[in-house]
Amino acid sequence: MEYKVALIPGDGIGPEIIDGAVKVLEKIGGIYGHDFRFTSYLAGGCAIDATGKPLPEETLEGCLASDSVMLGAVGGPKWDTLPGDIRPEKALLGLRKELGLYTNLRPAKIQPALADACVLRKDIAERGFDILIVRELTGGIYFGERGRRDKNGVEEAYDTEKYDVNEIERVARVAFESARKRRGKVTSIDKANVLETSRLWRETVHRIGEEYPDVELADMLVDNAAMQLVRDPSAFDVVVTSNMFGDILSDEASQVTGSIGLLASASLGATTRGMYEPIHGSAPDIAGTDKANPIATILSAAMMLRYSFDLGEEADCIERAVEKVLLDGWRTSDICEADRAGEAIGCREMTEKILEALGR
Ligand code: NAD
Repeated sequence: MEYKVALIPGDGIGPEIIDGAVKVLEKIGGIYGHDFRFTSYLAGGCAIDATGKPLPEETLEGCLASDSVMLGAVGGPKWDTLPGDIRPEKALLGLRKELGLYTNLRPAKIQPALADACVLRKDIAERGFDILIVRELTGGIYFGERGRRDKNGVEEAYDTEKYDVNEIERVARVAFESARKRRGKVTSIDKANVLETSRLWRETVHRIGEEYPDVELADMLVDNAAMQLVRDPSAFDVVVTSNMFGDILSDEASQVTGSIGLLASASLGATTRGMYEPIHGSAPDIAGTDKANPIATILSAAMMLRYSFDLGEEADCIERAVEKVLLDGWRTSDICEADRAGEAIGCREMTEKILEALGR
């Protein structure tokens, strides 16, 4: 099979980590007989420098004409003082909107070899956890009406949380479908004891849940969920929640796993074309030093194989290779214990180790 992949390396460490993911995809393509055709496009700070725009038309058209998109990261101090509409992160919002990506998937899994790096108590880390957070991405309070007004001489600000049934239904389906491919459990997180949007959320998720009798569904209030994620993360399989709750809980869940350099993400919409990227940013402090951990981006490539191209076996193969390399003791500096910092390997060598493990 031939797959067209649009690459957006972006800024900072973006080009280094995307390079690692491309090498891994080429190797897996060779093993399984797939042909990945890569085309690189500009977005973010480098696009502002070259064209004056964070998301040039050529990039958008290239992404729309591709089977999937892989992004490194955008942004950096050089562009921090630009006005809001020409900031690098505008490229991300533009891509999500134009590609119709309304769901964000973030796995948070403890790598067995890195249980020591987990910030949780040892017995909790050793129990292990493997959570998939499904976050609604284009609705809710981040997109509702907002403003400021005068209230009897006092300045007042407001933001509006708003969801319609269709927005909830489509993200709920992603959660139930994902649970079917995993351990068959969905926890829907809301604040239904207070918010009307949460009550509609809960009703709708339960109605869609009736179509999935093989999947167990539980509700949890967001304040309790924030506690349970650190108390017993092994109790969760798939978590589905609104845009703002998902923003906060997915960062919490990812941090308990250890390093930001390990965590992948996928943004999906109604078609099989998705956008895949590590959860971290462009790490300007280590850009160009070969210190970046490429694993989050390589695991994002595995998610692309699984969710956009339905190549589950190939995705498993990449994930196993990463696990093997970590079990063999190889570490980039972000996941190296402080007293062994001198033994850390760089981005290129970590990629090489994963390529070798793929072939084993
Ligand atoms: P960051 O994620 O870039 O870096 C936070 C810390 O983690 C830094 O110390 C960095 O060196 C380290 N780090 C991050 N990724 C790493 C990796 N793969 N390997 C090793 N260490 C890694 O967050 P920040 O410093 O807050 O932001 C830097 C820039 O990135 C900003 O301009 C921000 O707007 C942008 N950003 C972009 C995205 C995106 O493109 N999706 C996301 C977040 C931040």
